[in-house]
Amino acid sequence: MAESDARSRAEELIHLEDRWGAHNYRPLDVVIDHAQGVWAYDIEGNRYLDCLSAYSALNQGHCHPRIHQALLEQASRVTLTSRAFRNDQLPLFEAELADMCRMEMVLPMNTGAEAVESAIKAVRRWGYAKKGIAPGEAEIIVCDNNFHGRTTTIVGFSSEPLYRDGFGPFTPGFVNIPFGDTEALEEAITPNTCAFLFEPIQCEAGILVPRDGYLRDVAEICRRNRVLMVADEIQTGLGRTGNLLTCHGEGVQPDVFILGKALSGGVYPVSAVVSTREILGVFRPGSHGSTYGGNPLACAVARAALRVILDEQLPERSEELGTWLLYELRKIQHPHIKEVRGRGLLVGIELFVPARSYCERLKELGLLCKETHDYVIRLAPPLVISREDLAWSVAQIRQAFSM
Ligand SMILES: *Cc1c(COP(=O)(O)O)cnc(C)c1O
Repeated sequence: MAESDARSRAEELIHLEDRWGAHNYRPLDVVIDHAQGVWAYDIEGNRYLDCLSAYSALNQGHCHPRIHQALLEQASRVTLTSRAFRNDQLPLFEAELADMCRMEMVLPMNTGAEAVESAIKAVRRWGYAKKGIAPGEAEIIVCDNNFHGRTTTIVGFSSEPLYRDGFGPFTPGFVNIPFGDTEALEEAITPNTCAFLFEPIQCEAGILVPRDGYLRDVAEICRRNRVLMVADEIQTGLGRTGNLLTCHGEGVQPDVFILGKALSGGVYPVSAVVSTREILGVFRPGSHGSTYGGNPLACAVARAALRVILDEQLPERSEELGTWLLYELRKIQHPHIKEVRGRGLLVGIELFVPARSYCERLKELGLLCKETHDYVIRLAPPLVISREDLAWSVAQIRQAFSM
């Protein structure tokens, strides 16, 4: 295709999407048609380093050959049985994932929000059946600036007007406290509290890292008050922050892990609630379900995605490269930069000015990233990134701040 043809084709596709698609996103105008590893290519043939990784769903990189192979092999055998029958992939997926999380039981779902919803159902039922909370009275404590997904129940306990305005009435039973505040947590707990639902690092809120020891203190408070500690590690988990699970990095074992995103390496929607027999045991046949949840294609893909994380030592890579990235970024001096923070290859550059124009500029330089909460540039490349490619990214960022 001639260059001008490719350009007009890109413009046509952008126009079609704007014309026919709901406008619930504001994407950068780059039309990707293939990708491999850390690199994505647009239909005009431009190459970009993907520093968003689909919000950390692509920790293993685009089109990882082993995950791709698992998808193809399973797709030609059997893809969906429904849970009315058993399949030969689900039990292996459950056993392997539970083992990695040091847990006892797995509830497979599809999207992150669904897994969060499923965890909410589990902890409420646990509250009634095991803690003796009066029917209909269970409370779940959540944090301000949380992000747990987009269902009506979940946006109902969001503190972000953008996520919730116009979508009520909302589900009752949630109490908000400031993130990182253990005193507020103690004070918010009542005899009706069944769980504390939180992100170990608040990602969508702008990569907010709590103080050292926060997770350990939360675990202690929850245990002492018989409140379940529910860690939404959909974005922080599976190697992103330098440990397989961010909680484990602090030596903390919560009562519930919620996983998604990189659980399938960006190939297929797979999520899960991972917990103990006491908690997930509250579900009985018929009390919860999902047509696609636990399907053999999802399970085969997720098993391969997890093996890649372990075999390629992605948590260790994330830790090592992330430390270097933070160090390099902190050397950049610019009056617009307020703070550089993060853990592992999950880094936020907070600006005094809106970040969008910097993301546009970086796109022109061949680096794809997305602003979060207007003022923060989030950098989260696939964990398979080489040191050379990461150094190249730093050079582009330095360039963007020298213009
Ligand atoms: C992305 C995300 C979700 C929602 O996952 P979806 O698959 O988009 O429904 C929930 N919690 C956290 C922390 C996330 O980052």
